[in-house]
Order: sequence, then structure tokens, then C-alpha cells
Amino acid sequence: MKPVMALVGRPNVGKSTLFNRLTKSRDAIVADYAGLTRDRHYGNARHGRYEFIVIDTGGFEPTAESGIYKEMAKQTQQAVAEADVVVFVVDARAGLSAQDHDIANYLRRLGKPTVLAANKAEGMLEGVQLAEFYELGLGEIHAVSAAHGQGIRSLVDAAFEPLNLPEEDDAAEEQQSGIIKLAVAGRPNVGKSTLINAWLGEERLVAFDLPGTTRDAISVPFERNGQKFELIDTAGLRRKGKVFEAIEKFSVVKTLQAIESANVVLLLLDATQGVTDQDAHIAGYILESGRAVVLAINKWDAVDDYNRELVRRQIEQRLAFLKFAELHYISAKKRQGLGPLWASIAQAHKAAMTKMTTPVLTRLLLEAVQFQSPKRAGMFRPKLRYAHQGGMNPPVIVVHGNSLEHVTDAYKRFLEGRFRKEFNLVGTPLRIELRTSK
Ligand code: GDP
Ligand code: GDP
Repeated sequence: MKPVMALVGRPNVGKSTLFNRLTKSRDAIVADYAGLTRDRHYGNARHGRYEFIVIDTGGFEPTAESGIYKEMAKQTQQAVAEADVVVFVVDARAGLSAQDHDIANYLRRLGKPTVLAANKAEGMLEGVQLAEFYELGLGEIHAVSAAHGQGIRSLVDAAFEPLNLPEEDDAAEEQQSGIIKLAVAGRPNVGKSTLINAWLGEERLVAFDLPGTTRDAISVPFERNGQKFELIDTAGLRRKGKVFEAIEKFSVVKTLQAIESANVVLLLLDATQGVTDQDAHIAGYILESGRAVVLAINKWDAVDDYNRELVRRQIEQRLAFLKFAELHYISAKKRQGLGPLWASIAQAHKAAMTKMTTPVLTRLLLEAVQFQSPKRAGMFRPKLRYAHQGGMNPPVIVVHGNSLEHVTDAYKRFLEGRFRKEFNLVGTPLRIELRTSK
């Protein structure tokens, strides 16, 4: 599971600027997907050797007694509780405030690993001007400038180094094991536990033991028609003997972690509710993570024809960015339409793991260029020369050439369409990276 960093601090110290700075590289990848609305509080980050989930807790009032502030405090507390490390952000220019003291006390009581970031420290003489923050009793002060991108790398290192995180699983090894890691994601009450219990009640499904998994963890290895699966820790569920039940508290963090550790995500929606903001956000995380995805609209038994049409249209509009995913209308409760999900899951996994050789990719690239060449931009005409595969799950195609910074998004989409069709990439996001040779 990816580690989690929570950004905490009073309003205006620069948390969201830091959040944007930390999540920037991943942002760029999904920026050009139409219709993608993003929850600006949760994101993926990669710095140096660390890949992590970052949470911006917004304005934090640990002592708020009522109203929206109390609700925010509650959410902040949940985020902090779920984080592996807290980055407490203070404003180096404004200096120490009473509120900073309150937050520091709160964090110290929690006993979470905490690092102190003094933001807006560009051009400051660290030793002198930051000394007052030692009063907070949180140890070393990391001078950063979120706006200018200074000190970020060493802040991230300081946050994660003491945690002794296990090395990431070797992706190649995982893939060879032939097990499809599957996560069932969705808001509370969409029917996740009903679906999983319906599945696990099937005769065709055979449980097996996977070394290293504990019995109480919500990770279920099973085999179906000769294919091995691991149903990985799915947020919002608890295992009670042989059946799963929903727990009240919904955790975005756990959902994100489950998505990140899966190969394929089955995103479940509730037809009686349509596509809600929270559904769209979860869908956005899946796209951002690059995981393969299958969409299932549950409770189809409970909606009439008129509302079915409404739901269909909502999906087209609000989840347009998941067009590549296969879509199923099911009833977990009545066990209708569940069989075909497996074929889509297997297809999405196969697409996500597709191997593409350089000669074939290059041939397809040059054919695409011949069919339609990229537009000239002023003095520059981008020249696409060859392509190689840069990764799997999601497949990444790296295109090499000259002046590629002038390739338009529309042209990238054209290329994506060609590659998708040729390799039958149904169910997986595809990333195209353009690299200009010097
Ligand atoms: P938040 O309320 O803690 O999320 O703070 P914001 O990220 O919205 O930032 C508050 C203000 O501080 C904005 O005007 C930012 O432009 C500014 N700011 C953020 N980071 C820096 C920094 O590193 N240096 C300077 N000088 N200003 C910053
Ligand atoms: P979870 O929170 O996502 O695990 O949702 P549950 O599986 O606990 O289901 C929430 C509620 O929706 C329960 O009352 C279920 O009986 C109901 N439900 C689940 N699947 C269906 C379905 O296909 N049709 C209908 N009508 N109700 C369903």
C-alpha cells in the first residue's frame, strides 16, 4: 500500500500550493481528459524514490466547536489518523501564531510522525528567521518554498526516511504470478458487499491460500475458471467470518490505496442515485492511477425505463473520460448480469499488460503520421521518429522525435485512438509521452 502524507496547518500558510507542487507531475498526465473534475484534496505524488498519496486537509481549526468548521475538523482528524506522516506547514514570513501552537499541541498528543515545514522561506536566512518555530517542539525545521519549488525534495525525504517503508513489490514478478489484483471501489451503499458476497457464494469460485496474507485482512485470493484473482483490501468493508459487510465510515484514503494496489478496479455505481460528485471523484482517481477499469451500474432492478435512460446519459456526460472502459448494468442483489463482469475484468487486465515491441510501435506511428501528420507550429513542424513501450498497467507509449512540444492535444488523442485500436486496449488507460531528442 502506498504511504500517505497529510498536510496540516492554519489557512493561508500555503498548503494547497504545496499540494499542487507535490502532485504536479501526475496532474499533467490527466490534464487533457475532458470532463474530469478533480477533488483538490487528495492526490498522487512521486518524489525521488517515494510514491505516495497526499492529502490537503484545508483550513484546520482543531478547536472548532460547531458548524462547518467542526465538520472540517472531523475530516482533518480522519485524514491525520489515516496518514503515515503529517507535514505541519507554518508561514515563515508571518511568523509563529497562537493557532500554530494549538495545532502543534494537537499533533504532539497524537504522536504521529510529524515534520515541520516553514513555507514561504524563499530568500530567507534560515537559521536566524526560523528559529522561533523551535518553540513548537516538533524538532527540525524544514525551510521550503512551495511557490518556488525549493526544499521540497528534502522535506519529502525527511518525512518518509524514518518510516523505513518496505521496498515496492517488483512489478514484473507480480505479473508473472498470473494473479489479477482486483479492487471493488465505490461510495458507501452502492452494493459492494452485496456484490462480493454474491461472487463468493458462487460454486465456480474456489478460495486458495496466498502466502503472506492474514486471515482477518480483507484480501481474498480465489480462482475462477482457471484464472487466479486476489480481491484486495476494499475500503468500507469488514469481514465477518465468511461474509463481508459494509462499515459506516467511508475512507477516501483506503479507497485510493486499494485502487493503487490493484491491477483492475471494478467501479460500482448506484443506478438509483445516478452519477454523484463522489462517484466522479473516485472515477478520476482511477484514471489518474492508470489502473484498468470496469464500470458496473448496480441496482438496475430498482430503476424504471425513464430513469435508466437518465442514468445512461449521466454516465456519458460525467464519466466521458472513462470511455475506454466496458460498462455493465447489474443487480448484485438479484444476481443479474454478474457473470459477464469476469470477461471484462480479464479483458481489462490483458489490455493493461499488453506488450508492444519497438518495431511494431514504430511502424504504427509512422503509418499514423502518413495518414495525418502533426500541424506545423510557426517555424516548427514536429517530427515523430520512433516509439517504444515505457511501461505496463497502464501501458505507456514513448514517442521520440523533434519539436514534439508543439504536438497538439488533439493530435495526441488521434495517436491514442490509433494505438488503442491496433492493440485492442479496451479497459485500460493509455499514456502517450512525447520525448524530444536533443
Ligand atoms: P492554504 O490556505 O494553506 O492552502 O494556502 P495557499 O496555498 O492558498 O496559499 C496562501 C497564499 O500564500 C497564496 O497567496 C500563495 O500564493 C502564497 N504562497 C504559498 N506558498 C508560497 C511560497 O512558497 N512563498 C510565498 N512568498 N508565497 C506563497
Ligand atoms: P456497500 O456499502 O457498497 O457495501 O453496499 P451494500 O452491499 O451494503 O448495499 C447497500 C444497500 O443496497 C443494501 O440495502 C443492499 O441490500 C442494497 N443493494 C445492493 N445491491 C442491490 C441491487 O442490486 N438492487 C437493489 N435493489 N438493492 C441492492
